Amino acid sequence: MPHSTVDLAVVGAGPAGLAAAVTAADLGLSVALLDAGARPGGQYYRHPAPGLGATRPQALHHDWRAFAALVRRLEEHRRTSGISYLPDRQVWAVTPSGDTGSWTVHSRTDSASESPAPVTARAILLATGSYERQLPFPGWTLPGVVGAGGAQAMLKGGLVLPGRRVVVAGSGPLLLAVAASLSAAGARVPAVVEASGYGGYATHATTLLRNPAKLVEGARYGTALVRHHTRLLNRHAVVEAHGTDRVEAVTVARLDRDWRPVPGTARRIPCDAVAVGHGLVPELSLATALGCATRTAADGTVALALTDELRTSVPGIWSAGETGGIGGAQLAVVEGTLAAHSVARAAQAAHAASPGVTAPTTPEALRRARVRLRAFADAMGSAHRPGQGWTAWLADAADVCRCEEVTAGQVREAVTELGARDARTVKLLTRAGMGWCQGRMCGPAVAALCGATTTADAATPEGPSTSAGATAAPTPDRRPLACPVPLRQLASLPTDLS
Ligand SMILES: Cc1cc2nc3c(=O)[nH]c(=O)nc-3n(C[C@H](O)[C@H](O)[C@H](O)COP(=O)(O)OP(=O)(O)OC[C@H]3O[C@@H](n4cnc5c(N)ncnc54)[C@H](O)[C@@H]3O)c2cc1C
Repeated sequence: MPHSTVDLAVVGAGPAGLAAAVTAADLGLSVALLDAGARPGGQYYRHPAPGLGATRPQALHHDWRAFAALVRRLEEHRRTSGISYLPDRQVWAVTPSGDTGSWTVHSRTDSASESPAPVTARAILLATGSYERQLPFPGWTLPGVVGAGGAQAMLKGGLVLPGRRVVVAGSGPLLLAVAASLSAAGARVPAVVEASGYGGYATHATTLLRNPAKLVEGARYGTALVRHHTRLLNRHAVVEAHGTDRVEAVTVARLDRDWRPVPGTARRIPCDAVAVGHGLVPELSLATALGCATRTAADGTVALALTDELRTSVPGIWSAGETGGIGGAQLAVVEGTLAAHSVARAAQAAHAASPGVTAPTTPEALRRARVRLRAFADAMGSAHRPGQGWTAWLADAADVCRCEEVTAGQVREAVTELGARDARTVKLLTRAGMGWCQGRMCGPAVAALCGATTTADAATPEGPSTSAGATAAPTPDRRPLACPVPLRQLASLPTDLS
Protein backbone atom coordinates (compact mmCIF):
# COMPACT_ATOMS: atom_id res chain seq x y z
CA MET A 1 0.00 0.00 0.00
CA PRO A 2 1.34 3.48 -0.80
CA HIS A 3 2.17 5.79 2.12
CA SER A 4 -0.10 8.82 2.50
CA THR A 5 0.98 11.74 0.31
CA VAL A 6 3.84 13.80 1.74
CA ASP A 7 4.63 17.40 0.82
CA LEU A 8 8.14 16.59 -0.37
CA ALA A 9 10.05 13.45 -1.33
CA VAL A 10 13.82 13.93 -1.36
CA VAL A 11 15.88 11.38 -3.29
CA GLY A 12 19.43 11.18 -1.94
CA ALA A 13 20.62 11.68 1.65
CA GLY A 14 24.01 13.21 0.86
CA PRO A 15 24.86 16.75 2.01
CA ALA A 16 22.30 18.31 -0.40
CA GLY A 17 19.39 15.95 0.30
CA LEU A 18 20.00 15.89 4.04
CA ALA A 19 20.09 19.69 4.27
CA ALA A 20 16.96 19.94 2.10
CA ALA A 21 15.01 17.37 4.12
CA VAL A 22 15.73 18.88 7.56
CA THR A 23 15.15 22.44 6.35
CA ALA A 24 11.85 21.52 4.71
CA ALA A 25 10.77 19.74 7.91
CA ASP A 26 11.84 22.79 9.97
CA LEU A 27 9.53 24.83 7.74
CA GLY A 28 6.60 22.53 8.49
CA LEU A 29 6.55 20.28 5.41
CA SER A 30 6.04 16.54 5.72
CA VAL A 31 9.06 14.86 4.12
CA ALA A 32 10.11 11.42 2.89
CA LEU A 33 13.88 11.02 2.48
CA LEU A 34 14.94 8.04 0.38
CA ASP A 35 18.52 6.92 -0.17
CA ALA A 36 20.23 3.92 -1.72
CA GLY A 37 22.75 3.82 1.13
CA ALA A 38 22.28 2.27 4.56
CA ARG A 39 23.20 5.48 6.41
CA PRO A 40 22.81 9.18 5.66
CA GLY A 41 25.78 11.24 4.41
CA GLY A 42 26.19 10.37 0.72
CA GLN A 43 29.64 10.24 -0.85
CA TYR A 44 31.25 12.96 1.23
CA TYR A 45 30.12 11.91 4.70
CA ARG A 46 30.67 8.23 4.03
CA HIS A 47 31.50 6.49 7.31
CA PRO A 48 32.54 3.04 8.45
CA ALA A 49 29.91 0.32 8.85
CA PRO A 50 29.03 -0.14 12.54
CA GLY A 51 30.46 -3.68 12.49
CA LEU A 52 33.96 -2.31 11.87
CA GLY A 53 33.99 -0.75 15.32
CA ALA A 54 35.63 2.54 14.23
CA THR A 55 36.02 4.69 17.33
CA ARG A 56 36.80 7.99 15.54
CA PRO A 57 35.02 8.02 12.13
CA GLN A 58 35.35 11.83 12.16
CA ALA A 59 39.14 11.48 11.78
CA LEU A 60 38.66 10.99 8.03
CA HIS A 61 36.56 14.16 7.60
CA HIS A 62 37.41 17.78 8.08
CA ASP A 63 33.95 19.16 8.83
CA TRP A 64 32.25 16.36 10.66
CA ARG A 65 30.55 18.82 12.98
CA ALA A 66 28.34 20.14 10.15
CA PHE A 67 27.28 16.59 9.31
CA ALA A 68 26.64 15.70 12.94
CA ALA A 69 24.36 18.74 13.25
CA LEU A 70 22.37 17.69 10.16
CA VAL A 71 21.98 14.15 11.50
CA ARG A 72 20.82 15.48 14.87
CA ARG A 73 18.10 17.49 13.11
CA LEU A 74 17.16 14.43 11.04
CA GLU A 75 16.77 12.34 14.21
CA GLU A 76 14.63 15.03 15.86
CA HIS A 77 12.29 15.18 12.87
CA ARG A 78 12.09 11.39 12.70
CA ARG A 79 11.01 11.31 16.34
CA THR A 80 8.20 13.80 15.67
CA SER A 81 7.32 12.10 12.33
CA GLY A 82 8.25 15.19 10.32
CA ILE A 83 10.63 13.11 8.22
CA SER A 84 10.13 9.54 7.13
CA TYR A 85 13.72 8.36 6.49
CA LEU A 86 13.90 5.39 4.11
CA PRO A 87 17.45 4.03 3.77
CA ASP A 88 18.49 1.16 1.45
CA ARG A 89 15.96 2.37 -1.11
CA GLN A 90 17.24 2.73 -4.65
CA VAL A 91 14.74 4.85 -6.54
CA TRP A 92 14.24 3.47 -10.04
CA ALA A 93 11.61 5.91 -11.33
CA VAL A 94 9.57 8.96 -10.43
CA THR A 95 6.27 9.12 -12.31
CA PRO A 96 3.25 11.45 -12.26
CA SER A 97 0.45 10.15 -9.99
CA GLY A 98 -2.33 10.16 -12.56
CA ASP A 99 -3.54 13.74 -13.05
CA THR A 100 -3.41 14.71 -9.37
CA GLY A 101 -0.33 16.91 -9.82
CA SER A 102 1.52 14.66 -7.35
CA TRP A 103 4.36 12.23 -8.00
CA THR A 104 4.96 8.57 -7.25
CA VAL A 105 8.45 7.51 -6.21
CA HIS A 106 9.20 3.87 -7.00
CA SER A 107 12.07 2.21 -5.21
CA ARG A 108 13.65 -1.17 -4.62
CA THR A 109 15.74 -2.79 -1.90
CA ASP A 110 18.37 -5.52 -2.03
CA SER A 111 16.04 -7.86 -0.17
CA ALA A 112 14.75 -10.66 -2.42
CA SER A 113 11.36 -10.75 -0.73
CA GLU A 114 10.63 -7.05 -0.17
CA SER A 115 8.95 -4.74 -2.70
CA PRO A 116 8.81 -1.35 -0.96
CA ALA A 117 5.56 0.58 -1.15
CA PRO A 118 5.76 3.58 -3.50
CA VAL A 119 5.89 7.03 -1.91
CA THR A 120 3.56 9.75 -3.17
CA ALA A 121 4.58 13.37 -2.86
CA ARG A 122 3.38 16.79 -3.96
CA ALA A 123 6.96 17.87 -4.80
CA ILE A 124 10.20 16.06 -5.57
CA LEU A 125 13.75 17.09 -4.86
CA LEU A 126 16.44 15.14 -6.70
CA ALA A 127 19.75 15.16 -4.82
CA THR A 128 21.34 12.13 -6.42
CA GLY A 129 24.92 13.44 -6.47
CA SER A 130 27.60 12.27 -8.86
CA TYR A 131 29.93 9.47 -9.84
CA GLU A 132 33.52 9.42 -11.09
CA ARG A 133 34.58 10.29 -14.63
CA GLN A 134 37.01 7.66 -15.93
CA LEU A 135 39.20 8.13 -18.99
CA PRO A 136 40.61 4.68 -19.76
CA PHE A 137 44.24 3.78 -20.51
CA PRO A 138 45.95 0.46 -21.33
CA GLY A 139 45.97 -1.67 -18.17
CA TRP A 140 43.19 0.21 -16.37
CA THR A 141 41.26 -3.03 -15.84
CA LEU A 142 44.12 -4.65 -13.85
CA PRO A 143 43.39 -5.47 -10.19
CA GLY A 144 44.80 -2.65 -8.08
CA VAL A 145 43.55 0.13 -10.37
CA VAL A 146 40.66 1.81 -8.54
CA GLY A 147 38.78 5.08 -8.81
CA ALA A 148 40.29 8.00 -6.88
CA GLY A 149 36.97 8.59 -5.14
CA GLY A 150 36.68 4.81 -4.89
CA ALA A 151 39.94 4.68 -2.91
CA GLN A 152 38.53 7.37 -0.62
CA ALA A 153 35.31 5.38 -0.27
CA MET A 154 37.27 2.19 0.57
CA LEU A 155 39.10 4.07 3.28
CA LYS A 156 36.14 5.98 4.73
CA GLY A 157 33.62 3.13 4.43
CA GLY A 158 35.77 0.03 4.88
CA LEU A 159 38.90 1.36 6.66
CA VAL A 160 41.07 -0.33 4.00
CA LEU A 161 43.76 0.91 1.62
CA PRO A 162 43.84 -0.14 -2.05
CA GLY A 163 47.59 -0.86 -1.69
CA ARG A 164 50.73 0.12 0.19
CA ARG A 165 52.32 2.21 -2.60
CA VAL A 166 49.59 4.10 -4.43
CA VAL A 167 49.95 6.43 -7.43
CA VAL A 168 47.09 8.95 -7.42
CA ALA A 169 46.27 10.17 -10.93
CA GLY A 170 43.75 11.90 -13.16
CA SER A 171 42.54 15.44 -12.79
CA GLY A 172 40.86 17.69 -10.25
CA PRO A 173 41.27 18.72 -6.63
CA LEU A 174 39.77 15.45 -5.34
CA LEU A 175 43.18 13.91 -6.12
CA LEU A 176 44.81 16.07 -3.44
CA ALA A 177 42.21 15.04 -0.85
CA VAL A 178 42.65 11.39 -1.77
CA ALA A 179 46.47 11.56 -1.59
CA ALA A 180 46.28 13.28 1.81
CA SER A 181 43.87 10.65 3.19
CA LEU A 182 45.84 7.68 1.86
CA SER A 183 49.12 9.07 3.24
CA ALA A 184 47.58 9.82 6.61
CA ALA A 185 46.28 6.25 6.73
CA GLY A 186 49.77 4.84 6.16
CA ALA A 187 50.06 4.37 2.38
CA ARG A 188 53.09 5.63 0.48
CA VAL A 189 51.97 7.95 -2.34
CA PRO A 190 54.99 8.50 -4.61
CA ALA A 191 53.19 10.94 -6.92
CA VAL A 192 49.97 12.80 -7.62
CA VAL A 193 49.77 12.84 -11.42
CA GLU A 194 47.56 15.78 -12.49
CA ALA A 195 46.71 16.02 -16.19
CA SER A 196 45.75 19.68 -16.26
CA GLY A 197 47.78 21.55 -13.67
CA TYR A 198 46.86 24.37 -11.34
CA GLY A 199 48.01 27.20 -13.64
CA GLY A 200 44.45 27.44 -15.00
CA TYR A 201 43.28 28.92 -11.69
CA ALA A 202 45.38 32.05 -12.27
CA THR A 203 42.75 33.50 -14.62
CA HIS A 204 40.16 33.32 -11.82
CA ALA A 205 42.04 35.29 -9.16
CA THR A 206 39.01 37.27 -7.97
CA THR A 207 36.90 34.15 -7.58
CA LEU A 208 39.70 32.48 -5.62
CA LEU A 209 40.10 35.45 -3.31
CA ARG A 210 36.36 35.43 -2.59
CA ASN A 211 36.67 31.82 -1.39
CA PRO A 212 39.48 31.95 1.19
CA ALA A 213 38.30 28.74 2.90
CA LYS A 214 38.95 26.85 -0.33
CA LEU A 215 42.43 28.33 -0.55
CA VAL A 216 43.14 27.25 3.02
CA GLU A 217 41.91 23.74 2.17
CA GLY A 218 44.21 23.66 -0.88
CA ALA A 219 47.16 24.84 1.22
CA ARG A 220 46.46 22.11 3.77
CA TYR A 221 46.60 19.45 1.06
CA GLY A 222 49.79 21.02 -0.35
CA THR A 223 51.41 20.83 3.08
CA ALA A 224 50.36 17.19 3.42
CA LEU A 225 52.00 16.37 0.06
CA VAL A 226 55.26 17.98 1.19
CA ARG A 227 55.17 16.27 4.59
CA HIS A 228 54.69 12.84 3.01
CA HIS A 229 57.30 13.46 0.25
CA THR A 230 54.67 13.13 -2.49
CA ARG A 231 55.52 14.74 -5.84
CA LEU A 232 52.86 16.71 -7.67
CA LEU A 233 53.40 16.09 -11.40
CA ASN A 234 51.38 18.77 -13.19
CA ARG A 235 50.46 18.26 -16.86
CA HIS A 236 51.26 14.55 -16.64
CA ALA A 237 49.11 11.44 -16.99
CA VAL A 238 49.29 7.74 -16.32
CA VAL A 239 49.26 6.43 -19.91
CA GLU A 240 49.65 2.73 -19.08
CA ALA A 241 49.45 0.39 -16.09
CA HIS A 242 51.68 -2.70 -16.06
CA GLY A 243 51.40 -6.03 -14.29
CA THR A 244 50.20 -9.60 -14.65
CA ASP A 245 47.96 -10.54 -11.73
CA ARG A 246 47.74 -6.95 -10.48
CA VAL A 247 49.30 -3.59 -11.17
CA GLU A 248 53.06 -3.45 -10.52
CA ALA A 249 54.00 -0.11 -12.13
CA VAL A 250 52.63 2.72 -14.24
CA THR A 251 54.04 4.67 -17.16
CA VAL A 252 53.65 8.40 -16.69
CA ALA A 253 54.14 10.90 -19.54
CA ARG A 254 54.10 14.67 -19.82
CA LEU A 255 51.09 16.13 -21.67
CA ASP A 256 50.77 19.08 -24.03
CA ARG A 257 48.00 21.66 -23.53
CA ASP A 258 45.52 19.37 -25.30
CA TRP A 259 46.40 16.41 -23.04
CA ARG A 260 48.39 14.67 -25.81
CA PRO A 261 51.39 12.70 -24.42
CA VAL A 262 54.69 14.40 -25.36
CA PRO A 263 56.99 11.86 -27.10
CA GLY A 264 60.14 10.96 -25.19
CA THR A 265 58.80 11.95 -21.74
CA ALA A 266 57.54 8.54 -20.54
CA ARG A 267 58.91 7.03 -17.33
CA ARG A 268 57.90 4.21 -14.99
CA ILE A 269 56.82 4.51 -11.39
CA PRO A 270 56.59 1.25 -9.39
CA CYS A 271 53.40 0.87 -7.32
CA ASP A 272 50.92 -1.75 -6.18
CA ALA A 273 47.81 0.39 -6.67
CA VAL A 274 46.60 3.31 -8.79
CA ALA A 275 43.77 5.59 -7.65
CA VAL A 276 42.58 7.38 -10.77
CA GLY A 277 39.71 9.74 -11.61
CA HIS A 278 39.15 12.68 -13.93
CA GLY A 279 36.58 14.59 -11.94
CA LEU A 280 32.97 13.70 -11.28
CA VAL A 281 29.85 13.40 -13.44
CA PRO A 282 26.36 14.43 -12.22
CA GLU A 283 24.04 11.44 -11.68
CA LEU A 284 21.01 12.39 -13.76
CA SER A 285 19.23 9.09 -14.49
CA LEU A 286 16.00 10.02 -12.67
CA ALA A 287 16.09 13.64 -13.86
CA THR A 288 16.57 12.87 -17.55
CA ALA A 289 13.86 10.18 -17.40
CA LEU A 290 11.54 12.95 -16.18
CA GLY A 291 12.61 15.17 -19.08
CA CYS A 292 14.49 17.78 -17.01
CA ALA A 293 16.53 20.13 -19.21
CA THR A 294 20.32 19.95 -19.04
CA ARG A 295 23.28 22.23 -19.72
CA THR A 296 26.98 21.70 -20.32
CA ALA A 297 28.93 22.67 -17.22
CA ALA A 298 32.38 24.28 -17.14
CA ASP A 299 34.05 20.91 -16.60
CA GLY A 300 32.44 19.54 -19.78
CA THR A 301 29.90 17.33 -17.98
CA VAL A 302 26.15 17.46 -18.50
CA ALA A 303 24.38 18.95 -15.48
CA LEU A 304 20.79 19.96 -14.79
CA ALA A 305 19.67 23.41 -15.88
CA LEU A 306 18.32 24.97 -12.67
CA THR A 307 16.81 28.31 -11.82
CA ASP A 308 18.03 30.43 -8.89
CA GLU A 309 15.25 28.71 -6.93
CA LEU A 310 16.74 25.30 -7.74
CA ARG A 311 13.74 24.39 -9.88
CA THR A 312 14.27 22.08 -12.85
CA SER A 313 12.45 22.69 -16.13
CA VAL A 314 9.74 20.21 -15.02
CA PRO A 315 7.15 21.84 -12.71
CA GLY A 316 7.11 20.18 -9.28
CA ILE A 317 10.68 18.86 -9.56
CA TRP A 318 13.56 20.60 -7.73
CA SER A 319 17.19 19.55 -7.59
CA ALA A 320 20.23 20.44 -5.47
CA GLY A 321 23.88 19.51 -5.08
CA GLU A 322 26.05 17.88 -7.73
CA THR A 323 23.15 17.13 -10.07
CA GLY A 324 23.29 20.84 -10.95
CA GLY A 325 27.06 20.75 -11.53
CA ILE A 326 30.03 19.45 -9.54
CA GLY A 327 30.76 21.85 -6.70
CA GLY A 328 31.54 20.12 -3.40
CA ALA A 329 29.75 19.33 -0.17
CA GLN A 330 29.52 22.89 1.13
CA LEU A 331 27.73 24.10 -2.00
CA ALA A 332 25.48 21.02 -1.84
CA VAL A 333 24.34 21.97 1.69
CA VAL A 334 23.66 25.58 0.63
CA GLU A 335 21.66 24.44 -2.41
CA GLY A 336 19.68 21.86 -0.43
CA THR A 337 18.70 24.55 2.06
CA LEU A 338 17.74 27.02 -0.69
CA ALA A 339 15.71 24.39 -2.52
CA ALA A 340 13.76 23.54 0.66
CA HIS A 341 12.85 27.21 1.10
CA SER A 342 11.65 27.34 -2.50
CA VAL A 343 9.54 24.17 -2.12
CA ALA A 344 7.97 25.57 1.09
CA ARG A 345 7.08 28.83 -0.68
CA ALA A 346 5.49 26.90 -3.56
CA ALA A 347 3.59 24.66 -1.14
CA GLN A 348 2.19 27.62 0.73
CA ALA A 349 1.24 29.40 -2.48
CA ALA A 350 -0.65 26.31 -3.64
CA HIS A 351 -2.30 25.84 -0.20
CA ALA A 352 -1.34 22.22 -0.55
CA ALA A 353 0.92 21.84 2.42
CA SER A 354 0.17 20.47 5.84
CA PRO A 355 -1.15 23.02 8.32
CA GLY A 356 1.66 24.99 9.89
CA VAL A 357 3.80 25.47 6.79
CA THR A 358 5.53 28.82 6.93
CA ALA A 359 6.35 30.73 3.73
CA PRO A 360 9.97 31.53 4.38
CA THR A 361 12.07 34.36 3.12
CA THR A 362 15.29 32.86 1.93
CA PRO A 363 18.26 34.40 3.71
CA GLU A 364 20.06 36.61 1.18
CA ALA A 365 23.37 35.36 2.57
CA LEU A 366 22.55 31.86 1.34
CA ARG A 367 21.88 33.08 -2.19
CA ARG A 368 25.16 34.98 -2.18
CA ALA A 369 27.00 31.91 -0.86
CA ARG A 370 25.59 29.84 -3.72
CA VAL A 371 26.74 32.34 -6.34
CA ARG A 372 30.21 32.55 -4.77
CA LEU A 373 30.65 28.77 -4.41
CA ARG A 374 29.28 28.07 -7.91
CA ALA A 375 31.75 30.58 -9.36
CA PHE A 376 34.56 28.73 -7.59
CA ALA A 377 33.23 25.39 -8.88
CA ASP A 378 33.15 26.74 -12.44
CA ALA A 379 36.74 28.04 -12.14
CA MET A 380 37.80 24.62 -10.86
CA GLY A 381 35.82 22.84 -13.56
CA SER A 382 37.29 24.78 -16.44
CA ALA A 383 40.85 24.45 -15.05
CA HIS A 384 40.57 20.64 -14.91
CA ARG A 385 38.39 20.03 -17.97
CA PRO A 386 39.86 17.20 -20.07
CA GLY A 387 41.56 18.24 -23.31
CA GLN A 388 40.74 16.55 -26.58
CA GLY A 389 44.13 14.89 -27.08
CA TRP A 390 43.86 12.32 -24.28
CA THR A 391 42.63 9.59 -26.67
CA ALA A 392 46.21 9.51 -28.06
CA TRP A 393 47.22 7.35 -25.07
CA LEU A 394 44.37 4.92 -25.70
CA ALA A 395 45.94 2.04 -27.70
CA ASP A 396 43.55 0.04 -29.90
CA ALA A 397 43.87 -3.06 -27.70
CA ALA A 398 42.77 -1.23 -24.54
CA ASP A 399 39.28 -1.98 -23.20
CA VAL A 400 36.99 1.06 -23.25
CA CYS A 401 33.76 -0.61 -22.08
CA ARG A 402 34.91 -2.92 -19.32
CA CYS A 403 31.44 -4.46 -18.77
CA GLU A 404 31.15 -5.72 -22.36
CA GLU A 405 34.93 -5.88 -23.05
CA VAL A 406 34.79 -3.57 -26.07
CA THR A 407 38.19 -2.23 -27.10
CA ALA A 408 39.18 1.21 -28.34
CA GLY A 409 39.99 -0.42 -31.71
CA GLN A 410 36.41 -1.73 -32.03
CA VAL A 411 34.97 1.70 -31.22
CA ARG A 412 37.33 3.36 -33.73
CA GLU A 413 36.31 0.80 -36.36
CA ALA A 414 32.62 1.57 -35.72
CA VAL A 415 33.40 5.25 -36.34
CA THR A 416 35.83 5.09 -39.29
CA GLU A 417 34.55 1.95 -41.09
CA LEU A 418 30.88 1.81 -40.16
CA GLY A 419 30.04 5.50 -40.00
CA ALA A 420 28.99 5.85 -36.36
CA ARG A 421 28.84 9.52 -35.32
CA ASP A 422 27.48 9.28 -31.79
CA ALA A 423 27.70 7.10 -28.70
CA ARG A 424 24.28 5.56 -29.28
CA THR A 425 25.22 4.25 -32.75
CA VAL A 426 28.54 2.99 -31.37
CA LYS A 427 26.56 1.15 -28.69
CA LEU A 428 24.31 -0.52 -31.26
CA LEU A 429 27.31 -1.58 -33.34
CA THR A 430 29.70 -2.70 -30.57
CA ARG A 431 27.67 -3.14 -27.31
CA ALA A 432 29.82 -0.46 -25.62
CA GLY A 433 27.64 0.91 -22.81
CA MET A 434 25.17 -1.99 -22.77
CA GLY A 435 26.56 -3.67 -19.65
CA TRP A 436 25.79 -3.44 -15.96
CA CYS A 437 26.92 0.17 -15.51
CA GLN A 438 24.90 1.30 -18.56
CA GLY A 439 27.71 3.45 -19.94
CA ARG A 440 28.50 5.35 -16.74
CA MET A 441 32.15 4.23 -16.98
CA CYS A 442 32.74 4.25 -20.72
CA GLY A 443 30.36 7.06 -21.74
CA PRO A 444 32.90 9.92 -21.77
CA ALA A 445 35.49 7.78 -23.60
CA VAL A 446 33.08 6.55 -26.26
CA ALA A 447 31.83 10.10 -26.84
CA ALA A 448 35.41 11.34 -27.24
CA LEU A 449 36.36 8.51 -29.61
CA CYS A 450 33.41 9.16 -31.88
CA GLY A 451 34.02 12.92 -31.83
CA ALA A 452 30.51 13.55 -30.50
CA THR A 453 29.64 17.13 -29.84
CA THR A 454 27.53 18.18 -26.92
CA THR A 455 23.91 18.63 -27.84
CA ALA A 456 20.69 19.85 -26.29
CA ASP A 457 22.19 22.55 -24.10
CA ALA A 458 19.18 24.19 -22.59
CA ALA A 459 18.93 27.89 -21.94
CA THR A 460 19.86 28.36 -18.29
CA PRO A 461 20.33 31.20 -15.88
CA GLU A 462 24.08 30.59 -16.14
CA GLY A 463 23.97 29.65 -19.80
CA PRO A 464 25.90 26.84 -21.44
CA SER A 465 29.64 27.15 -21.06
CA THR A 466 31.06 24.77 -23.62
CA SER A 467 34.57 25.76 -24.66
CA ALA A 468 35.91 24.83 -28.05
CA GLY A 469 38.56 22.14 -28.31
CA ALA A 470 37.68 20.21 -25.17
CA THR A 471 36.23 16.76 -24.71
CA ALA A 472 32.49 16.80 -25.24
CA ALA A 473 30.10 15.41 -22.66
CA PRO A 474 27.94 12.54 -23.84
CA THR A 475 24.28 13.47 -24.08
CA PRO A 476 22.58 11.58 -21.24
CA ASP A 477 20.32 8.74 -22.25
CA ARG A 478 16.67 8.94 -21.27
CA ARG A 479 15.76 5.59 -19.75
CA PRO A 480 12.51 4.67 -17.99
CA LEU A 481 14.36 2.72 -15.25
CA ALA A 482 17.32 4.21 -13.38
CA CYS A 483 18.56 0.80 -12.19
CA PRO A 484 17.73 -2.91 -12.60
CA VAL A 485 14.31 -3.75 -11.09
CA PRO A 486 13.02 -7.27 -10.24
CA LEU A 487 10.31 -8.42 -12.64
CA ARG A 488 8.19 -9.35 -9.58
CA GLN A 489 8.09 -5.68 -8.60
CA LEU A 490 7.28 -4.46 -12.12
CA ALA A 491 4.50 -7.06 -12.41
CA SER A 492 2.88 -5.78 -9.19
CA LEU A 493 2.47 -2.25 -10.53
CA PRO A 494 -0.98 -0.94 -11.45
CA THR A 495 -1.56 -1.27 -15.20
CA ASP A 496 -2.37 2.44 -15.60
CA LEU A 497 1.15 3.56 -14.53
CA SER A 498 2.01 6.39 -16.83
C1 LIG B 1 33.25 8.26 -5.08
C2 LIG B 1 33.29 9.70 -4.60
C3 LIG B 1 34.18 10.06 -3.58
C4 LIG B 1 34.26 11.41 -3.16
N1 LIG B 1 35.18 11.76 -2.20
C5 LIG B 1 35.28 13.07 -1.82
C6 LIG B 1 36.26 13.50 -0.88
O1 LIG B 1 37.01 12.70 -0.38
N2 LIG B 1 36.33 14.81 -0.56
C7 LIG B 1 35.51 15.74 -1.13
O2 LIG B 1 35.60 16.94 -0.82
N3 LIG B 1 34.56 15.37 -2.02
C8 LIG B 1 34.45 14.06 -2.39
N4 LIG B 1 33.52 13.70 -3.32
C9 LIG B 1 32.58 14.73 -3.78
C10 LIG B 1 31.51 14.92 -2.69
O3 LIG B 1 31.06 13.67 -2.31
C11 LIG B 1 30.37 15.77 -3.20
O4 LIG B 1 30.86 17.05 -3.44
C12 LIG B 1 29.20 15.88 -2.22
O5 LIG B 1 28.97 14.67 -1.56
C13 LIG B 1 27.96 16.31 -2.98
O6 LIG B 1 26.81 16.13 -2.22
P1 LIG B 1 25.44 15.66 -2.89
O7 LIG B 1 24.47 15.62 -1.78
O8 LIG B 1 25.16 16.48 -4.08
O9 LIG B 1 25.71 14.18 -3.45
P2 LIG B 1 26.17 12.82 -2.76
O10 LIG B 1 26.94 13.02 -1.53
O11 LIG B 1 26.80 12.04 -3.85
O12 LIG B 1 24.80 12.14 -2.34
C14 LIG B 1 23.92 11.60 -3.28
C15 LIG B 1 23.10 10.53 -2.59
O13 LIG B 1 22.08 10.14 -3.49
C16 LIG B 1 21.93 8.75 -3.40
N5 LIG B 1 21.34 8.30 -4.66
C17 LIG B 1 21.78 8.49 -5.93
N6 LIG B 1 20.93 7.95 -6.81
C18 LIG B 1 19.93 7.41 -6.08
C19 LIG B 1 18.75 6.69 -6.43
N7 LIG B 1 18.41 6.42 -7.70
N8 LIG B 1 17.95 6.25 -5.41
C20 LIG B 1 18.26 6.50 -4.11
N9 LIG B 1 19.37 7.18 -3.74
C21 LIG B 1 20.19 7.63 -4.71
C22 LIG B 1 23.32 8.22 -3.15
O14 LIG B 1 23.26 6.96 -2.51
C23 LIG B 1 23.90 9.30 -2.25
O15 LIG B 1 23.72 8.97 -0.89
C24 LIG B 1 33.42 12.37 -3.75
C25 LIG B 1 32.50 12.00 -4.75
C26 LIG B 1 32.44 10.67 -5.18
C27 LIG B 1 31.46 10.29 -6.27
